Amino acid sequence: MKVRIGLGFDLHRLGPGSHLILGGVEVPHGKSFIAHSDGDVLCHAVVDALLGAAGLGNIGERFPDTDPKYKGMSSLTFVTEVAGLLEQNGFRIENIDSNILAERPRLLQYFPAMRKKLAAASGIPVEKISIKAKTMEGLGVIGTEEAIAAEAIALVSFE
Ligand code: MG
Repeated sequence: MKVRIGLGFDLHRLGPGSHLILGGVEVPHGKSFIAHSDGDVLCHAVVDALLGAAGLGNIGERFPDTDPKYKGMSSLTFVTEVAGLLEQNGFRIENIDSNILAERPRLLQYFPAMRKKLAAASGIPVEKISIKAKTMEGLGVIGTEEAIAAEAIALVSFE
């Protein structure tokens, strides 16, 4: 078995709203993402980690934000599509680890639902998906709640 590793990062600005979508899960919040899609930074980071591991480009090439087709779409769809693409190219996803960088809200209680959704979308067992969260201790654009970011890392194997 040979393996490859991929890294993904994404950040979206926050604006007025009532909830966030993270890992495909609706999280009640006083702000929402300003984005062409649902702004799900966790899904976007996971997609880039998977594409990066397989050497298959990046999210911007695959799902251009100028394409009206992707407007308001659930970003879990991107994860599903990319998981399929990897499979077609002979890659198996071994595991995905991630961090959500957000000052608020506290996300711990949503991790089980997020992991379940990401597992279903990527076609791997929930045990192979890890999600963690960090605050920025009030510093920078994340600390002042102007943005939320996520980073992900994925290991894929092939023959
Ligand atoms: Mg994005």
